Amino acid sequence: MRTGGAGGVIVKKTPATMADGRELFYFDDVTAEREVLPDTRDLPHVSHGSTMRFDVLTGEWVAIAAHRQDRTYMPPADHCPLDPTLPGREPTEIPAPSYDVVVFENRFPSFAQSAAEVAPEVDGNPLWPQRPAVGRCEVVCFTSDHNASFGSLPVSRVRTVIEAWADRTAALSALPGVEQVFPFENRGKEIGVTLQHPHGQIYGYPFVTPRTAQLLTRAASHRQRTGRDLLGDVLDGERKSGARVVLDGEAWTCFVPAAARWPVEAHLVPHRVVPDFAALDDAERDELAVLYRDLLYRLERVFGEPMELPYIAGWHQAPIHTGRDLTRLHLQLFSLRRAPGKLKFLAGSESGMAAWINDVTPEQIAERLRAAGS
Ligand SMILES: [Zn+2]
Repeated sequence: MRTGGAGGVIVKKTPATMADGRELFYFDDVTAEREVLPDTRDLPHVSHGSTMRFDVLTGEWVAIAAHRQDRTYMPPADHCPLDPTLPGREPTEIPAPSYDVVVFENRFPSFAQSAAEVAPEVDGNPLWPQRPAVGRCEVVCFTSDHNASFGSLPVSRVRTVIEAWADRTAALSALPGVEQVFPFENRGKEIGVTLQHPHGQIYGYPFVTPRTAQLLTRAASHRQRTGRDLLGDVLDGERKSGARVVLDGEAWTCFVPAAARWPVEAHLVPHRVVPDFAALDDAERDELAVLYRDLLYRLERVFGEPMELPYIAGWHQAPIHTGRDLTRLHLQLFSLRRAPGKLKFLAGSESGMAAWINDVTPEQIAERLRAAGS
């Protein structure tokens, strides 16, 4: 497969199969010829016992994935499963001596196409519906360099990752049972990352997530009241005000939301109404690579001297089968670092009540992110 790329870079996609039958895809931007080498490991199939139960009190699904307790936790750097497999070394998840970007099915998924059947109700009580957690979880390796970070990648590589996100969004959206596709990156041990290697994940959920359901409800009521697009109105308002704008491009604007919850938070929103990565055109993908990298650069300098900031980058996409015209692709990037050496923990009010208290004004956050670029 040939797809677009920054400055005419061609991204080549090559499929492969892992020892236990999982799918793997190489997305190459610099590797001249991709030779598909076999995965030589004797790897048992992991049985996916994931189920999901309906919380009758909140109307939300909760996935129960007990098999994930056994997953790899912070291996020593020379046993990183996301490194390339070098000659004479123990095989990793990627049976190639080099790669640019690689995507593969998670060995310990919360959602899988092969999820086992379960009784339709917990204890046979209709109060508690239960389903197999059918879906898909993939791992995206951003680079073969164990010690790099997303923010340190060249724009051309960020562009390749965007191609991979677009390709996988389209593929996962077509899978049976998948209702919403969520690419994200957890960065930093402070937020529970189990592997240091620069990587992200893509979840294909079998339901519309609670956060998205809430956004859709708000957008639908705004549409009914005004006939207008809620996220579009927010974007227009932010650009008109400028008080919280961090970056303003041709196709994208980055701003701190007026009611930011986190001590560092920024949203990156496309000007055009696009449901997901797959719907972005080449110019939008090109500019996104530049602006997203710029934003991560600022994030690392938001408290002055460059520091590794733990962050979560969540790419919201419209659900596949419902409310697709009510929302659009956008990034929510946030850090729980509130000052050097200090973290914000989600304590009683946030964890117990989902009532957020932020010690920093959104205008201050925007000012810090703007200053971090100069
Ligand atoms: Zn590694």
